[in-house]
Amino acid sequence: MRAEVVSMDAEHLDKEVIKKAGQILKNGGLVAFPTETVYGLGGNALDPKASMKIYAAKGRPSDNPLIVHIAEIEKLKEVTTEIPEGARILAEKYWPGPLTMILPKADIVPKETTGGLDSVAVRFPSDVIAQELIKAAGGFVAAPSANTSGRPSPTMAEHVEEDLGDAIDMILDGGQVGIGLESTIVDFTEKIPVVLRPGYISLEMLQETLGEVRMDKGLLITDSSVRPKAPGMKYRHYAPEADLSIVEGETEKVITYINSRASEAEKQGKTVGIIATDETAGLYKAGVIRSIGSRAEEETIAHHLYEVLRDFDGDGVSAIFSEAFYTPKMGQAIMNRLLKAAGHKIIKVQEEQK
Ligand code: AMP
Ligand code: MG
Repeated sequence: MRAEVVSMDAEHLDKEVIKKAGQILKNGGLVAFPTETVYGLGGNALDPKASMKIYAAKGRPSDNPLIVHIAEIEKLKEVTTEIPEGARILAEKYWPGPLTMILPKADIVPKETTGGLDSVAVRFPSDVIAQELIKAAGGFVAAPSANTSGRPSPTMAEHVEEDLGDAIDMILDGGQVGIGLESTIVDFTEKIPVVLRPGYISLEMLQETLGEVRMDKGLLITDSSVRPKAPGMKYRHYAPEADLSIVEGETEKVITYINSRASEAEKQGKTVGIIATDETAGLYKAGVIRSIGSRAEEETIAHHLYEVLRDFDGDGVSAIFSEAFYTPKMGQAIMNRLLKAAGHKIIKVQEEQK
């Protein structure tokens, strides 16, 4: 099977195509579609067989639960047994948008969709193509990111085709996504809401709205002794083919260090990849240099992260070195993904050179 790829403009929706895609989902098939965060791989969330197909297509471990996407707020109560006040407030403020909430699951959601858990992750995306598809499919679409498990998440339809073109029925191509990093996940099954995955909606924004919100301990500690509560966060993720290291420290020292590694590699007939920014790209002397965006506009860094990681795969680089991006608002989310992609390999230049 080769997926049918159909381009679509959110402002001029092709109702016939949406209807056809919705029917594929109703019949238990798989359709990839754009959202404002990354591309999702959709299946009917209430059909256990469809969820099993999603795991198989992605090569995803089946203990890693899927997010149920809805396109009407009234649907939330059908998939949950309880909606705490805090969840109501967040839904009101941030839905539709890049926010996923974990709530106690209703019986109609099969355990295949929730990776065996009694809770369910729910999101109401703001992308119009996503919304229309979800409605056409009956209202509940399970959709993890539409990449092969472990690879960088897809931010354009071409990435989905690369990974899953032979494994799914249809791809709706709505162009490049807006945010480029997956949704923020907030767990409401505990007394104090817990962020299980950082995203565009930051911990500070959530605290401003709700008061007390904490970060999952498994996200803050970089060793493996504390397990993250979102099952998916424990896996290595987003990884490019070449070995990736993050170089931290004063900008000048970071550049000097990476330049020395790049020229070392060159002497051995190898080429390194370098993840730079618009501000620093001109200062590197050797290797394949890619700017990820501008530190002055941190959204651009989030937006290009996965694309840049994927782009190095065709280059045959022997290793990749990246600057660190602890930017003010999205830094937590960006570094969470970059650290996973690097398998937590960090080179601290100040210390090394003392
Ligand atoms: P993805 O579908 O690729 O965006 O990943 C979804 C993330 O949500 C994974 O890290 C899952 O482990 C997490 N997740 C989904 N459902 C639950 C749940 N019920 N409890 C905790 N984490 C969840
Ligand atoms: Mg994913």
